[in-house]
Amino acid sequence: MADFSAPLKAPIYVCLLTYGCQMNILDSQILSGNLTRQGFVVVDDETAADAVLFITCSVRDLAERKVLGKAGKLNVKRNRRPEVVLGVTGCMAELKGESLLGGKNVFDFVAGTHKRHLIPELLLRALCKRAAAAEVTAVNAEALERLGIALSPYMDECAPSSERLFAVGRNESGEGPDELEAMRPRPWQAFVEIMRGCSNFCSYCVVPYARGPEVSRPAEEILKELETLAGSGCVEVTLLGQNVNSYGKDLPKGSLSFPELLEKAAKIEGLKWLRFVTSNPQDISDDLIALMASEKKICRYLHFPLQSGSNRILKMMNRKYTLEQYLEKVAKLKAAMPDLWLAGDLIVGFPGETLEDFQATLAAVEKIDYANNFLFKYSERPGTAAARLKDDVPLEEKKRRHAELMALQGRLTHEHLKSLVGTTQEVLVEGHSKRNRDVLQGRTTHYANVVFEGDPSLIGKFVPVRMESATPLTLYGSCERLTGEEKLTNEKETS
Ligand code: SF4
Repeated sequence: MADFSAPLKAPIYVCLLTYGCQMNILDSQILSGNLTRQGFVVVDDETAADAVLFITCSVRDLAERKVLGKAGKLNVKRNRRPEVVLGVTGCMAELKGESLLGGKNVFDFVAGTHKRHLIPELLLRALCKRAAAAEVTAVNAEALERLGIALSPYMDECAPSSERLFAVGRNESGEGPDELEAMRPRPWQAFVEIMRGCSNFCSYCVVPYARGPEVSRPAEEILKELETLAGSGCVEVTLLGQNVNSYGKDLPKGSLSFPELLEKAAKIEGLKWLRFVTSNPQDISDDLIALMASEKKICRYLHFPLQSGSNRILKMMNRKYTLEQYLEKVAKLKAAMPDLWLAGDLIVGFPGETLEDFQATLAAVEKIDYANNFLFKYSERPGTAAARLKDDVPLEEKKRRHAELMALQGRLTHEHLKSLVGTTQEVLVEGHSKRNRDVLQGRTTHYANVVFEGDPSLIGKFVPVRMESATPLTLYGSCERLTGEEKLTNEKETS
């Protein structure tokens, strides 16, 4: 058993450093809520923290290197405060497991993607070990009791020895932190997880290994969470899953499909905008397209990753569609919603990608006319099927292709933004502009970034903004108040 007799100071300050996708941001919000309820104090300032927890991503090599670099720097600072704990959770923790402890590694504990509920306990065990080793004297021996944390019966199953503070693998206990505890920094805007994991096994991707197979949350639980959020003033929700279009396929017969879930969500009073990510093209259905077209609460922005414009590469990636099938779905989407903006994901330099394959990707991007794209240089991920292929596109060539694609997408994005100049758009105000605190920043239904002058009391509200100019990434406008018969229009006025 862990030695909990080591005295701890109280309160215990914990800083969460989050890397990667929206799933990790939500994990971080859920953990913040969970830790706060258990008596910890979550802080933004890592230098003031007694423990720093890394919520990690493994999708690319760069993401892992960033975490290790940052953890290394914090470890150096432990020369002055040796009692500070460094923990790691998320995809990297799941994939690397116990190898992140000991040797040159600086982490005190590791909690995999299915072990979030064990983090408070792992944290305390690590704090006790460090406090004892560092002979910390500023103490409050009653801290643990006051925190009220009971030893979990599952800990021994996960980490038979208290010396090995790690927990990875499947969640045998079925326990998990309560999603309703999530501490969201903006009460009017929320991510809500509808499923975890992925069963697609694209050849380059670690997610199925790091997060396990697709597991859908029961619809009642999701809808209850949405109602609670709406009741507390939330107006925009983004439903999250690695492949939301296959939501419910793992649930008992008769459970809601994704379009059915979305339709029920749209009926919840108070929720005004609904978004969802990610949509695997192979699974998008006609029902979903029809619902999106008829339901105005569903935003006119769809993340619809293509990954490559070459059928040969798509096959090697184990993507289960051809470019032609993808284009067919895009045609259906645009026919149903001419004002829909599409965003994609593309990887350049996949093993064996020739110049011809890359040209096919460029041509596809131009044809599909994406509003936005997330562009990545292929990096080999250990354990994936693609890692068995020769990573034969030189880094310089990957960089060149990436830059060429960036330039093309930059032009398309700018064109999209310019097309809104002269229109009035409904904008959800997200806060102050990061570059200029004197102006506000918000998003349109197309997820276009808008900056305009306005009173801070508008933050969290929808306002009509007349678009006046567009730079490559941002629209600039002026706020209009709707009065009487005035109406928003998404079409250009011809005055
Ligand atoms: S659909 Fe493919 S790329 Fe997306 S998470 Fe699943 S395996 Fe990874």
